[in-house]
Amino acid sequence: MADLAVLAAPLVASLRDAEGLVLVVTGAGVSAASGIRTFRGKEPGALWREHDVAMATAGCFRRDPVGQLAWYLDRFAAVDAARPNPAHRSLAAIERHLRSAGRPFLLVTQNIDTLHEQAGSERLIKVHGTADRVRCGRERCPLGAPSGSLPRSAVDLDSFRREPGEASLPRCPECGSPLRPHVLFFDEYYADHHDYRFAEVEQAAGRAAAMLFVGTSFAVGVTALLLDAGTRRGVPMWSIDPAAGRAPGGAPVRALAAPAERLLPVVAAALGGPPAGGASGRRR
Ligand SMILES: [Zn+2]
Repeated sequence: MADLAVLAAPLVASLRDAEGLVLVVTGAGVSAASGIRTFRGKEPGALWREHDVAMATAGCFRRDPVGQLAWYLDRFAAVDAARPNPAHRSLAAIERHLRSAGRPFLLVTQNIDTLHEQAGSERLIKVHGTADRVRCGRERCPLGAPSGSLPRSAVDLDSFRREPGEASLPRCPECGSPLRPHVLFFDEYYADHHDYRFAEVEQAAGRAAAMLFVGTSFAVGVTALLLDAGTRRGVPMWSIDPAAGRAPGGAPVRALAAPAERLLPVVAAALGGPPAGGASGRRR
């Protein structure tokens, strides 16, 4: 662990000394150790291989809601079975430590799983939506965009699982339109639903005093916005990524090449937070 402590030291100092908001941004890499496939990794199991990207679009929802829902239910099964790993628990511990010292903190995740919440993170924005909710596919329905949704657990999906088809598609209790996942599709906009809280992310980008990216490949729009704001304002920016991928556009991000589930417990402990939980796991 000595090497990890050395690697973590400048990041710990940066978080400790930041005079203002500590903004953490997580991507699929943070959940990889929980068994959820990464979105754009190079490994063969990575989720978004070419043919999969088209499934996560509004176009696919309109064209093939049955095929799309079957695909999402398969993915949600993996998400439902996953449990937080030490990276999730350490981020919750870092939040508790900073906030108990009166320091502003915000976690923005690109992940739709619920592992940050399960680990105890509270100041959390799920900018790509969430796997535990669905919404009406018809805009302006009270249960659809821009502000409506309902828990996935409140919807009967068993009939569809038994016999996937038009007739068994789950429907909106308000208007009877097909329901859709409460997630941001590739061909949609962050502003499409209030739950993505994109205005708050923009605001945070403009006032963060330190930024830490964890397990993100910097491939989606929200990271570009944050990198741009951080670069312009000269904010210390860090990335934890075993591949130590370089940030796009030469943004001055200091990359720490280590798995987040090993490095973040060291960071949390050094910041003086409560123990981040051992390999045996601690569940809420
Ligand atoms: Zn509806």
